[in-house]
Amino acid sequence: MTLRLHNTLTGAKDPFEPLEEDQVRMYTCGPTVWNFAHVGNLRAFLFYDIVRRHLQVSGYRVTHVMNLTDIDDRILDQAMHAGTTIGEYTKPYAAAFFEDMAALRAERAEQYPRATEHIPEMVEMIATLVANGNAYVADGDVYYRIASFPAYGALSHLDRAGLKAGARVASDKYDKEHVSDFALWKKAQPGDEKIGAAWDAPFGRGRPGWHIECSAMSKRYLGDTLDIHAGGVDLMFPHHENEIAQSEAANHKTYARVWLHSEHLADATGEKMSKSAGGFTTLRDLIDAGHDPLAIRFFLIANAHYRSRVRLSPEALHAAAEQVRRLREFTERVNRATPADSEDAEFAHRIEQVRAGYREALDDDLNLPQGVGLVFDLIREANAALDADRVGPNNKASLLELIDEVDAHLDVMRAEEPGLADEVERLIAEREAARKARDFARSDQIREDLRTRGIVLEDSKDGVRWRRVAPY
Ligand SMILES: [Zn+2]
Repeated sequence: MTLRLHNTLTGAKDPFEPLEEDQVRMYTCGPTVWNFAHVGNLRAFLFYDIVRRHLQVSGYRVTHVMNLTDIDDRILDQAMHAGTTIGEYTKPYAAAFFEDMAALRAERAEQYPRATEHIPEMVEMIATLVANGNAYVADGDVYYRIASFPAYGALSHLDRAGLKAGARVASDKYDKEHVSDFALWKKAQPGDEKIGAAWDAPFGRGRPGWHIECSAMSKRYLGDTLDIHAGGVDLMFPHHENEIAQSEAANHKTYARVWLHSEHLADATGEKMSKSAGGFTTLRDLIDAGHDPLAIRFFLIANAHYRSRVRLSPEALHAAAEQVRRLREFTERVNRATPADSEDAEFAHRIEQVRAGYREALDDDLNLPQGVGLVFDLIREANAALDADRVGPNNKASLLELIDEVDAHLDVMRAEEPGLADEVERLIAEREAARKARDFARSDQIREDLRTRGIVLEDSKDGVRWRRVAPY
């Protein structure tokens, strides 16, 4: 069976095929670092992790880019309020994001571009859109002209009449030709300079809108056409619609071939969890309340299919912790078990059936909860087989292989990051090389990346040493 993914664009589970045979280019919308990420955001970020891991399991090389939005209205407000620059204001929240991702064992993306470090790419794309007639300048602001892009609304299956309803979401206060036109560039306001939130551009000093950053940064790192673009369902309209309109009008190519959207996480009352609404739970809140990050990981990825809503509650987290415990105990039991003298052919067949079923569930639009359900059924049967001393050497080996296959997605079995030491040594060598080449930006970046993962480097007379500290 081949991998099928539910493509929002077609509304169907389509067989997945990347443009290049074994290479997948994936862009996912990352956090806005104005605060700690709430668990609803983390659900989307862990969904990206499952997509990424399953593509790798399926034999693809994945180039995954996830942006950090380090400029937006909330960040500007907060920085002004705190009397600091946007760079200083967002720093701890960006670090906290990486710390959360590490605690939840999300695999690292290949790139985490930050909006404020890619202003020239955005200005260039906006200039192209203005030159093409897809955008217009109005008193220092630049707006996208929705009327110039007939396919607008195709992703969210929105008819043009429906645009009026969406107009409030996208509304901006200035001189727009049409109410649903959205800002690509916002003229600098008094006070923006002081907090480091204004840049030069041919259309006047200002700052980029939110939507343009994803179009510009995905192009920079992945080219004009993405194999997969993923995000939370709340980003479908208007953010992803706007990305398509910008990228396709500027590049004249299909922007993303497959769009994946993960559903909301609801709070205990069933309401969508959101930061703007006030009541939100961060990973820190949950860890402080005594929950294990890996139980939280398990809950967020395996409790419900990514396209259904799931409700966060202490009971659900306790149930997830219990499932993780059962998986670990079972693995330990199998590892310790002295195999029986002979194989149980029927049981061997059953294990193969579950392995195939697990794989099929994942290939069927990443149905991890269904796959995990099959594995828990088998665990009950395997415990009975172990009790009856019916598990032969091959039975034991295939059980352990199955657990490895499941843990390639779940990643809740290992206690410590394997290969960490090797990786740190490799990065230290790379940093030394960068220093010799006087590429201090790169060497500083390596030090900073390691710091966010809880590794500090110390220069000593015998060379560079590293030690563990609490991550940011
Ligand atoms: Zn985006």
